[in-house]
Amino acid sequence: MTILVTGGAGYIGSHMVLELLDAGEQVIVLDNLSTGFRWAVPSHVPLIVGDFGDEELVSRILREHQVSAIIHFAAKIVVPESMADPLTYYLNNTAKARNLIACAVAARIEHFIFSSTAAVYGEPQSNPVSEDEMLKPINPYGRSKWFVEMMLEDVARATGLRHVVLRYFNVAGADPQGRSGQSTPDATHLIKVAVQAALGFRPGMDVFGTDYPTRDGSCERDYIHVSDLVRAHMDALRYLRAGGPSLVCNVGYQKGYSVLDVIKMVKSVAGVDFPVHLSGRRAGDPAVIVASNARIKSTLNWQPQHNDLQTIVRQALDWERRLHNRRGED
Ligand code: UDP
Repeated sequence: MTILVTGGAGYIGSHMVLELLDAGEQVIVLDNLSTGFRWAVPSHVPLIVGDFGDEELVSRILREHQVSAIIHFAAKIVVPESMADPLTYYLNNTAKARNLIACAVAARIEHFIFSSTAAVYGEPQSNPVSEDEMLKPINPYGRSKWFVEMMLEDVARATGLRHVVLRYFNVAGADPQGRSGQSTPDATHLIKVAVQAALGFRPGMDVFGTDYPTRDGSCERDYIHVSDLVRAHMDALRYLRAGGPSLVCNVGYQKGYSVLDVIKMVKSVAGVDFPVHLSGRRAGDPAVIVASNARIKSTLNWQPQHNDLQTIVRQALDWERRLHNRRGED
């Protein structure tokens, strides 16, 4: 009864692996190490360096390791990059996911948990946004994930594969025990960038857009702690194992912070000031997106434990310092 974690050497995937191990599960990781790190996978966990779209490889893994569930994280996740290079997103996030799902069906895997995104909603009509909102992604990243949601829905109807789609809002923070964190050197995500600016690892940072129809003109997002996010996957796994039907859930705290709120919090927690440049809008960004989390609480009994921006920022800062001290490891 092994669980295959694709992207298990990456930011969220590595936290998932730790959570699964803590729960006594058997885990195997498939990761091409394009943005992940070998050191992020505990040495006793089998790490297969390869492509999750490689049907021959995946079929062999599923067979040889007697995989019973797949948690699929591996993906490209940067909105502006998807605007500049959409075909790479459709190949990596969509076409290769089709191959992975095909392998799962062929191997009669019953449980599949998929990392989707709030970006499938685009610019929602109202916030907090519920899962029933019309999906209208405004960037190729969101569309590349939406296609996979649709594939899973169709496949669940036609086969025995049941799935939980988790639509992540803005994931941040680090393992409270300091075992993993966001480690991509050229990360573009807000909290990571702000933390690097606070620690002097970059000269300052930009705010992309101050003319949005929001409280302070900057974009609002729902920042969720990575540990609460991986906990949602554990809840999803339990749900599927108990026979629950396929399901789509938002994962967020139902609370929005603006870009300026986040920068203020980072400055306050770090106790430093750093240069912030008010810049123009970034392509593909919705003004506001905040999760409704009623469904995940009622169906998966998800109980977040780290719902606090200050804690998220403090742990992100701690991790960034730790990462800086270990530079040079692969
Ligand atoms: N953002 C910013 N400066 C940065 C990075 C991000 O102003 O250096 C803004 C970005 O335009 C968006 C929000 O922060 O409004 C969250 O962006 P991020 O890339 O973290 O996540 P996304 O919501 O795009 O998945």
